[in-house]
Amino acid sequence: MLAGRAAARPGTGYEHDPEAGAEAQGQQCRQEQHLRSDRQVGDGGCAGSRFCWARGPSARIDEWRVGNRPVSLDTYPLIGWGPRENLYLATGTYRDGFHNSPLIAKIMADDLLGSSDRYEHPFVPTRAPFSVMTAQESAAETAYHTASLAYEASLNWPRFWSHDALPRLFLQSPQKMYEDLGEPYGLSPDLVRLLARGARSNDGPDRDAYLRVKSLLQTRGVTTLSD
Ligand SMILES: Cc1cc2nc3c(=O)[nH]c(=O)nc-3n(C[C@H](O)[C@H](O)[C@H](O)COP(=O)(O)OP(=O)(O)OC[C@H]3O[C@@H](n4cnc5c(N)ncnc54)[C@H](O)[C@@H]3O)c2cc1C
Repeated sequence: MLAGRAAARPGTGYEHDPEAGAEAQGQQCRQEQHLRSDRQVGDGGCAGSRFCWARGPSARIDEWRVGNRPVSLDTYPLIGWGPRENLYLATGTYRDGFHNSPLIAKIMADDLLGSSDRYEHPFVPTRAPFSVMTAQESAAETAYHTASLAYEASLNWPRFWSHDALPRLFLQSPQKMYEDLGEPYGLSPDLVRLLARGARSNDGPDRDAYLRVKSLLQTRGVTTLSD
């Protein structure tokens, strides 16, 4: 779920484009007018209508991204106003978007309608990523996940080889990544496997993604549970 630039955010003075024209947009105009004239929208006149926050003759598409299990850098959801004006995000739910959807819908509706009875949560999109483990724990967990994946893919390991030899083998790549990152905080093992590939590549999309994450961690740091 993503509401674009033209979202009618209470209190931001969203301007309607009178040239927009079409019949459907006429309906939108009335609803947006309603939002603008009564920013609290206490009577819920626009609630349930996607036209309130899904249009925009002035909207510009910068980039399209598509994924079946949309995931954020820390694997926790992104719910709330984004870094740009009038951008609202409700995504990043990864494998849990269905069962969380009733609560996410309530949070989103309350935010868009300016409700005073808001559900407090830490998942604002502009946060620094959460870290719930150390780099060392993350590297070890990543190695364990990777070894499990190998068994799931029918790996046959000779009986007389130690059961922990495989995780130890897979530990090297995440450990090297964390050495390069120089961060004491750990990322989710689900992402470390992908990022570690970028850490050891010379170029290509994996490398680009890794470097973006590295730069983001250096500039914004992480949020730990004790913060
Ligand atoms: C196989 C599978 C099983 C899952 N099982 C579960 C489960 O059991 N329980 C659970 O809680 N979660 C489950 N999930 C995760 C859940 O589906 C996601 O977390 C959730 O759907 C993400 O919601 P979203 O709104 O961010 O993205 P989406 O649900 O992907 O919604 C994005 C929407 O945007 C539309 N769109 C994309 N590009 C454009 C564009 N340019 N213009 C207009 N529209 C566009 C898409 O068509 C889509 O409708 C599962 C996911 C998968 C893939």
